[in-house]
Amino acid sequence: MTVADNVRDVAGRISRAAVRAGRRVEDIKLVAITKTVDIDMIREAAAAGVRVFGENYLQEARGKIQAIGHGVEWHMTGRLQRNKARDAVNLFDMVQTVDSLALAQELDKRAGSAGKVISGLIEVNIGEEDSKSGIKSGELLPFLNSIKDLNNLSIRGLMTLPPYSVNPEEVRPYFKALRGMRDTANSNGFSLSELSMGMSHDFEVAVEEGATMVRIGTAIFGERR
Ligand SMILES: *Cc1c(COP(=O)(O)O)cnc(C)c1O
Repeated sequence: MTVADNVRDVAGRISRAAVRAGRRVEDIKLVAITKTVDIDMIREAAAAGVRVFGENYLQEARGKIQAIGHGVEWHMTGRLQRNKARDAVNLFDMVQTVDSLALAQELDKRAGSAGKVISGLIEVNIGEEDSKSGIKSGELLPFLNSIKDLNNLSIRGLMTLPPYSVNPEEVRPYFKALRGMRDTANSNGFSLSELSMGMSHDFEVAVEEGATMVRIGTAIFGERR
């Protein structure tokens, strides 16, 4: 299987899951996760039609973005330190891992100085695991209120990395919970559209539960080095 074969296979599985859930396939973006993946494979994925890439490490992202360019979107999907906010604003179209007020304020400030608006997702630690970052579910509304006046950071929705289970059905309740949080926020006057959830082993369940972005690494590029 080539990268192009894998992209077609994943796209087919996304569209079948969308049909099962009565959703439109255009409402779901495939985000190819490129950590440790080399530039040639990223090019192959782009040639096969992938339009959004996610990187976890700023250092790796720099060379890749320079090589591939901005004809595709680049999202930061790894933990972002506040002192790297300026680099992130320069490199990425979206930061999917906004997990603190301090980071949100710094992104807003750096985007302001660069004369742009950076898009963001709030990362939610839906399983409240010590090993993962993200805000707690109960903190969402106060957090949204505390950042609503930041004009250069545009929060579009929520992102999560749920507890791992070999059986994707066990992850389904976490995906449902994230969608519930978005809907609650929207009934409190916010307008969040995006739900970034689902990875190689569980993205079909995530699509059935309302994912608008699925983040796929292994199923496209193979096992990571
Ligand atoms: C690595 C990674 C993924 C992709 O994981 P796969 O299981 O390889 O599909 C998705 N999201 C984040 C935040 C990641 O770090």
